[in-house]
Amino acid sequence: MVAQLTFAAPRRAKPPRHLADLTPEERKSVVSELGEQPFRAGQLSRHYFTRLVDDPAAMTDLPAGTRDRLSDALLPRLLTPVRHLTCDRGATRKTLWRAFDGTLVESVLMRYPDRITMCVSSQAGCGMNCPFCATGQQGLTRNLSTAEIVEQVVAGARALARGEIEGGPGRVGNVVFMGMGEPLANYKAVLGAVRRLTDPAPGGLGMSQRGITVSTVGLVPAIDKLAGEGLSVRLALSLHAPDDELRDELVPVNNRWEVAEALDAAWRYAEVSGRRVSIEYALIREINDQAWRADLLGELIRGKLVHVNLIPLNPTPGSKWTASRPEDEREFVRRLESHGVAVTVRDTRGQEIDGACGQLAAVGDEAPPPA
Ligand code: SAH
Repeated sequence: MVAQLTFAAPRRAKPPRHLADLTPEERKSVVSELGEQPFRAGQLSRHYFTRLVDDPAAMTDLPAGTRDRLSDALLPRLLTPVRHLTCDRGATRKTLWRAFDGTLVESVLMRYPDRITMCVSSQAGCGMNCPFCATGQQGLTRNLSTAEIVEQVVAGARALARGEIEGGPGRVGNVVFMGMGEPLANYKAVLGAVRRLTDPAPGGLGMSQRGITVSTVGLVPAIDKLAGEGLSVRLALSLHAPDDELRDELVPVNNRWEVAEALDAAWRYAEVSGRRVSIEYALIREINDQAWRADLLGELIRGKLVHVNLIPLNPTPGSKWTASRPEDEREFVRRLESHGVAVTVRDTRGQEIDGACGQLAAVGDEAPPPA
């Protein structure tokens, strides 16, 4: 007999399967394959998405043997908290997570007077290489699975429900895909996460699609694909410059899809979804904050279903760039408004804990803070 030789390349291990990776129907078939009654899938989903249980022993409506079998198969621990950092008197909390393979990612919970927003990572690191963003400097480690994304939100919901966040019990109303990674470069997992977050409870978290924002550097085919899903999630386009010459440098993917193409895709998305597109623009002193660039931006987007979100540049290690002067920021706002464009200036939440936009870098080798 000839020995069988295999030349398969070693494959990177995938995150373990979790019920949040599956549709409610798929969960039923997995449960049946394990020799359990299909209705157990609904019980498990209720524990995970509604009761926010993280300890299988608390699932007392399941017989012990069944409970162990099903939680081993469908509720593996995906993310372990390494540390939490808080600021804004506890209203902002950044969590560093370790995944099954040691990969590190971060999420940020932000409590405002009227709402609670979770900012989640869709990839470990990022391959888009924007020079002003700390995550962009890391390169891409790997895509997160649907369940790894969903678990960041569920963990936040759990902490809130248990009153662990300053301000008492509360609920996550908004999720923004503005943590580490380029969500549209991990399309399938991100779309799955959007579905799980918005599937009615107990099959999913039961959030409103309108509370979800997917932010992108402008991957045009993926924007069009998202438009075809028939969702009413908001699209945010990280523009940062109205002219190709500068945007080629600030957002390197512009060399593939230039400003006009990215904006056209955004308008198509707005048309199909009925949602105002958000244009993200980090104001960088003497780089992209000139009055003429405000005018050019205003001309490009006036009259569209759009809103501009200016982000004072957050400092990142090793970057030579800094935030705009207050008077330049004010002039930028004024010029956009004079074109009839709606503008807001984003607060720099989480800056002290490197948890603000563009600061997530998941460095885990520091000693934990003293208890
Ligand atoms: N890759 C996606 C999702 C990340 S969202 C995207 O780029 O849209 C993070 C947002 O913060 C993006 O708009 C990004 O451009 C912006 N950002 C990155 N670095 C920043 C920094 N140093 N200061 C302010 N905003 C920054």
